[in-house]
Amino acid sequence: MPNVISTDICIVGAGPVGLFAVFEAGLLKLRCHVVDALPQPGGQLSEIYPKKPIYDIPGFPEILAGDLVTNLIKQIEPFHPTFTLGERVERFAKLDDGSFQLYTTDGTEIQCKAVAIAGGLGSFEPRKPAVENLEQFEGGKGVHYMVRDPEHFRDQKIVIAGGGDSALDWTNFLANVAADVTLVHRGTTFRGAADSAEKVKTLAEAGKIKLVLSSNVTHLHGNGKLAQVTITGNDGTAETVPLDHFIPLFGLTPKLGPIGEWGLELTDDAIVVDTLDYSTSLPGVFAIGDINTYPGKLKLILCGFHEAALMCQGAFKYIYPDKKYTLKYTTVNGVPTL
Ligand code: FAD
Repeated sequence: MPNVISTDICIVGAGPVGLFAVFEAGLLKLRCHVVDALPQPGGQLSEIYPKKPIYDIPGFPEILAGDLVTNLIKQIEPFHPTFTLGERVERFAKLDDGSFQLYTTDGTEIQCKAVAIAGGLGSFEPRKPAVENLEQFEGGKGVHYMVRDPEHFRDQKIVIAGGGDSALDWTNFLANVAADVTLVHRGTTFRGAADSAEKVKTLAEAGKIKLVLSSNVTHLHGNGKLAQVTITGNDGTAETVPLDHFIPLFGLTPKLGPIGEWGLELTDDAIVVDTLDYSTSLPGVFAIGDINTYPGKLKLILCGFHEAALMCQGAFKYIYPDKKYTLKYTTVNGVPTL
């Protein structure tokens, strides 16, 4: 049975702009379901620069990107949004009654009255290591490019590859979950945070994980399911080890992905919108944040917030063409709940 969700607005993308759109929709008593291909909300802020300070959010002289995401999630709590994370929206259909159905990679179906695309620079796709037969073991056969649910690896033998924050953080975390953890890194020094690298080294010295430096995973073996990997040192020595899962964590790069195939008017991989309400060329579908384009567009979080507010007014009119909405301030009404 497919997982079917019904809502007013389906927001594609849980970056800062998609998250804030939930707030603006909530003020209009519109329910939202938010879908993101990443396993966590926050878009670029969580994935690329969680520890970077941001200086141009009104009211915050300085705020860490990760803290802004935390605040945005707290701000939308009164509206009880629902989320599908770790699944990419692949396609959608507009029905005769003007409503929509969206479908994700994992078979989730979202039925909604309007669609808000807040897909940023697109969905993040993994940077894959140069291992010849990697693709043979993708799709549940043993190779994972992100950790969606750490419990999936409980009591399993895993090999992680990489030298950045993700590889270090997940090695430290999964050391307490998996039966056996090996971290393979092509260099001798790590790009990730120094304290995470220190923790990895301490775990290795205590024999809780295996740390293999100056090496790469060069070949995967198995019959339909991954069973062994070959780890080759920079000096040419090779070792084949048994495992259940290989997790190469070399970062993610954003690509427009399926959004480019949805028949919307595009310019330079961005969705053309009307700045009246950020509507696209297809009535009922709106685009906000980094994904859209219009004369004078600035790819800034604060511009995306403004777009989210106007988009929700447009979505309200699309959903309830005969209802009149009068703007009320949150200070007068408090934050209403749904
Ligand atoms: P994003 O943050 O890109 O989020 C989009 C989300 O959509 C992603 O999580 C993606 O996984 C998801 N998605 C895409 N396609 C699909 C799909 N088909 N299905 C499901 N999910 C999908 N801006 C500022 O205002 N101030 C700054 O100081 C600042 N510093 C920056 C520093 C760096 C290093 C970078 C890279 C950017 C910076 N920016 C800054 C820009 C800012 O990050 C973007 O403007 C902002 O992230 C746009 O938000 P968004 O919600 O539109 O998109």
